[in-house]
Amino acid sequence: MSRVIFHDPQDQPRPAAPLAAGEAVRDTFGRPLRDLRISVTDRCNFRCTYCMPREVFGADHAFLPQSALLTFEEITRVASIALSQGVRKIRLTGGEPLLRKQIEVLVQMLAQLRTPDGLPPELTLTTNGTLLARKAEALAKAGLTRVTVSLDALDDAIFERMSDSGVAVATVLQGIQVAAQVGLAPVKVNMVVRRGMNDQQILPMARHFRGTGHVLRFIEYMDVGNTNGWRMDEVVTGAQIIQQIIQEFPLQPLQAQYRGEVANRWAYTDGAGEIGLITSVSQPFCGDCTRMRLSPEGRLFTCLFADHGHDLRALLRSGATDDALRDRLAGVWSSRSDRYSEIRGEAHRDHKIEMSYIGG
Ligand code: SAM
Ligand code: SF4
Ligand code: SF4
Repeated sequence: MSRVIFHDPQDQPRPAAPLAAGEAVRDTFGRPLRDLRISVTDRCNFRCTYCMPREVFGADHAFLPQSALLTFEEITRVASIALSQGVRKIRLTGGEPLLRKQIEVLVQMLAQLRTPDGLPPELTLTTNGTLLARKAEALAKAGLTRVTVSLDALDDAIFERMSDSGVAVATVLQGIQVAAQVGLAPVKVNMVVRRGMNDQQILPMARHFRGTGHVLRFIEYMDVGNTNGWRMDEVVTGAQIIQQIIQEFPLQPLQAQYRGEVANRWAYTDGAGEIGLITSVSQPFCGDCTRMRLSPEGRLFTCLFADHGHDLRALLRSGATDDALRDRLAGVWSSRSDRYSEIRGEAHRDHKIEMSYIGG
């Protein structure tokens, strides 16, 4: 596991001004806090080469012990505080979030929360789909709004190489189908494209998901963490992906639906649905990044490429009041100045946080 600095005494969050009801705390660039991504476990049943390479995350890898993880009550308390500071969307992630026991109970607890305007948060989850067919109905009943399923190939051999798992593509496809049937729709399907590994699957994936109502999103391979040996020449850019698809299926760009939408959306001109492109490498979107991340053991991270987090668990477990937690969370966000993807070339990071720990 990488050595990530969790507390830097030189980087004390400064206190934030009180908010009017419904207002969001803003960071040093004026970006509002709108999204909370909660990683519920650092464990996974896959070993995707770009995320948890088996050479690093092997049989002797020390994952977090159960006692280190935030409890569902602690997570719900943090989420409730975050809603009072501007958060409107909550995403559960991991590691593989469906490996966390009774995850549907957490979903139910989060679904009962309300924003200061009295609205429920949008509540989503990102999963590799292996356990989805079994769990989708319970998740939907518990109040999950939608689900995102990661799938990097339709060809079993390529999928097996990417995920290093032995799981069949059909298992994930069944998870997607059941999720849609129980109302977790539209299902978003995330495909990370890595040149030389699965780029020949771009068109088969587009063909397969066209007209299904599921939204396929292509993700540029990113230099997250310290273990995947990322190289720029393995990135297939969003523009290159569009060029491939448009030769077979005409596409037209769609307007963003809201500020901070990460995917560039394109519609098939024949009405067979839409695709998305997440171009964090070739066209960074830090200027609109409104996402805060909570790690499995209660550290707040303000960027996917952060090298340090801010501990909340000690406060939570020392009987801190809601006001103290609110001040801490608002202080962390209002001190934020992250824009890693925009300064990738110049930004040196010794030990970035791992994607499998903090979630996508
Ligand atoms: N295990 C779940 C899954 O795979 O959906 C949730 C956690 S995973 C870390 C979240 C997302 O991050 C997935 O869609 C995955 O494909 C993406 N991801 C992981 N490593 C990545 C990388 N190096 N570049 C781009 N996306 C990555
Ligand atoms: Fe597991 Fe998701 Fe990372 Fe793949 S991308 S290793 S499924 S956490
Ligand atoms: Fe947000 Fe950091 Fe990604 Fe920029 S690099 S979009 S600040 S998470």
